[in-house]
Amino acid sequence: MSADPPPRFISPHAEGEFYWTSGADGVLRLQRCGDCRRYIHPPGPVCPYCHSRALSPEPVAGTGTIATFTINRKEWIPGFEPPYVFALVEIDEDPTIRLGTNIVGCEVDDVEIGMRVEVEFEANGEWHVPLFHPLPVERSEE
Ligand SMILES: [Zn+2]
Repeated sequence: MSADPPPRFISPHAEGEFYWTSGADGVLRLQRCGDCRRYIHPPGPVCPYCHSRALSPEPVAGTGTIATFTINRKEWIPGFEPPYVFALVEIDEDPTIRLGTNIVGCEVDDVEIGMRVEVEFEANGEWHVPLFHPLPVERSEE
């Protein structure tokens, strides 16, 4: 494993390393409880719902909805050019799961709460950082 953290590293810790690496095959994975089947994020050693330790990463669709976001216009991280969007994305499998991530692939001023997004991965050595880009707007049935 590379010792260099990726520039977008957000909240790494031991149990969650898979979250930052398993996207090498283009699939987002979240920790899931083998007993109560709930998703858990950030990952931990024990299920917060049923206290099971039968936890493992499982693939999810990689689609979700922006719950909230902020536009960062200052260079807090050297080499990471502003402006960029930090967002919390609710995953489709469980909207109580909110992933802290960056929104890419559009102008920062076009990002909206409720926007539908899809995962992509920014490779940095062995790390594959999950980022999200907007999905095409679906025609509603209004
Ligand atoms: Zn559980």
